[in-house]
Amino acid sequence: MSSEVGLLVPTPPAIRKIERISPTLYEAAMKCTSRAAWLASGERKLLPPHPRALLGIGVHAVLERARSGVISGTTEDERRVGAEHVFDEKMRELFAATHPLLHAKFDGVDRLPFYNLFRARAAQMAADANVVPSARAREDTPRTGSSGSTVEAALVSRDGRVAGRADVLDAANATVIDYKTGAAGDSGPLTESELRQLRLYAYLASENGIAITRGVIERTDRTRAEVPISPQQAAEEGRRALSVLDGYNQHVGRPFESGASPSADACRFCPCIPFCTAFWKSAEAQWNGQCGTHVEGVVESVEGERLISINLNVTRGTGSRGAAVVTRLSREWLTFSGAALPQPQQTVRIIDAAYVEESEAPAVFRADRIGTAVWTVPSQTP
Ligand code: SF4
Repeated sequence: MSSEVGLLVPTPPAIRKIERISPTLYEAAMKCTSRAAWLASGERKLLPPHPRALLGIGVHAVLERARSGVISGTTEDERRVGAEHVFDEKMRELFAATHPLLHAKFDGVDRLPFYNLFRARAAQMAADANVVPSARAREDTPRTGSSGSTVEAALVSRDGRVAGRADVLDAANATVIDYKTGAAGDSGPLTESELRQLRLYAYLASENGIAITRGVIERTDRTRAEVPISPQQAAEEGRRALSVLDGYNQHVGRPFESGASPSADACRFCPCIPFCTAFWKSAEAQWNGQCGTHVEGVVESVEGERLISINLNVTRGTGSRGAAVVTRLSREWLTFSGAALPQPQQTVRIIDAAYVEESEAPAVFRADRIGTAVWTVPSQTP
């Protein structure tokens, strides 16, 4: 496949109705309706995922299989080896289907940064899970009520408008457990978002006849945080999720930008940044610390052979305005689809570069293999 430009900024989706809200959509919609609209659109393959996101899916696949008793073995070592196979298989499948920019950046799935670390942690957590197939076969599902067994299933509220899948719903111990691949934040052992998620699972459990009084976050770094959950807190979280769903659906049929609430906090880690006009109209250099470095500018010249530098005039984004140079771009990241290098006068958006402190006129932005992407902006884009 070849094209004139590499990554062309995609057209944002319209805001479509959501019938049912999940914990992930709930979090996104609380930050920004447009962000949730993107998640709900299912068009995620248009954007290269962060390698960590792929690894996170791999870890969850292992844990899900372990909790289902599918990973066999009578000893911890046997279960660990089985879990590593599951991880490798899932990661190969994900990598084969992922965005071509990741293929241009990484020779194989096991070259993703921290691959072996995530693999080892997933395998250890799976080995610790110690669930055998015969035990799983006796378990009831949440729909049939509290059996005293550890169960894991998708849960739907009675009105069908809230749904979610907790990693573990332990009815016997009135506990919901969720696994996280990221470390705890600076604000404490549990983030606000994780707390909301646990309470929402507790709400879903109660809607299915299972009483939950405790939420647990287990991280792949093997830390664990617990929090009590009262029936009132669970019910309140359910009410809030429904209210967020109703608020979201008031935007249905409107353009993507109408739901945007750009801010340094809301836009942090948002996958929509490459194509979100509201972000580019509002972003300020001061957002850099919280939101990362993303700049838009007009190309002046391109230099280099294997490693490319783009000289540009930055006009928008979270970097300082004016003369700038983006360095250390591998030629392959720009030409992987048979595209030409960016040309003078083209407008480009550089996502996730690192600002070299105190550089100015030109400001220096350094590309990195993990996150940086260069998008070409179509001329009619506002
Ligand atoms: S970039 Fe910001 S404003 Fe745009 S969709 Fe994401 S969170 Fe919303």
